[in-house]
Amino acid sequence: MTFDPKNVPQIKLNNGQLIPQLGLGVYKLEAASAANLVATAIDSGYRRIDTAALYLNEAEVGQGVRQSSVPREDIFVTTKIWHDHHQYDAALKAVDDSLARLDIDYIDMVLIHWPAPAQDKFVEAWAALQHSVEVGKIRGIGVSNFHSMHLDKLLAAGGTVPALNQVELHPGLQQADLRAYDAAHGIATEAWSPLARGRFNEAEPIVNIAKKYGKTPAQVVIRWHIELGNLVIPKTANPDRLLENISVFDFSLDGEDMAAIATLENGLRTGPNPEEFN
Ligand code: NDP
Repeated sequence: MTFDPKNVPQIKLNNGQLIPQLGLGVYKLEAASAANLVATAIDSGYRRIDTAALYLNEAEVGQGVRQSSVPREDIFVTTKIWHDHHQYDAALKAVDDSLARLDIDYIDMVLIHWPAPAQDKFVEAWAALQHSVEVGKIRGIGVSNFHSMHLDKLLAAGGTVPALNQVELHPGLQQADLRAYDAAHGIATEAWSPLARGRFNEAEPIVNIAKKYGKTPAQVVIRWHIELGNLVIPKTANPDRLLENISVFDFSLDGEDMAAIATLENGLRTGPNPEEFN
């Protein structure tokens, strides 16, 4: 079974890059199975993969990209650099190391994984990422887990405006203020843990909406992200769920559904608070 990738909307980023609105996240995807799963995902219709140096599967992601039957230029690959590489030269090296591990000629998008405010070096890392774009190693740059205070600081330094900000975002943590900040600055918002790792699969409004459309709870939550305009990267290691998670473009949620899901906001975090994580 395959899914026609043309059904996934392309979002135009502030640097002109086109990015599929839905992709596959590969955090906790074990290296041993990652290459085959990534190749299967691409061959079944995914055109975007989200990894990170931290995930220890960049080499397998690259292998999966090469192993698939889809040309490199049709696939959008994101990776991220970790806090121990925020110093300028270390950030340049992090890009080179990711490039070597991925082995896919160039990287579409590199993110600063967390702001790590205690060491306060993300502006330096950002300068290095801008240089890596200038020399053609990477095509676009963005941030992850940046709150408005971190973005204020980055923007005040001048230079490139991040193309996207990847943050924890799901029905329990809807990030209305941060989404509005990003939008006001031309930054796309991307949702990590978009399914809150399954915590809303039995929530009453989600289950009711799923019944109404003949969809699964995961599909309802992913569609909610699409309706909000979020970039979204659900993770699954299960080949059957790959198709389930991308098959969300044949229905839409109405105002009543969106209002019901809005009531699920409860400040839930599945990961750390970026203001305290160093
Ligand atoms: P998700 O919200 O995507 O949830 C993944 C979990 O849900 C897995 O346990 C998966 O199990 C399960 N699942 C997936 N699809 C379905 C389905 N259709 N039905 C039922 N269960 C399902 O969590 P993640 O934390 O993995 O976030 C997604 C991606 O976001 C990551 O892979 C990573 O790329 C990125 N991320 C970025 C972070 C950052 O700091 N920038 C932090 C965390 C994540 P199974 O595999 O068995 O299907």
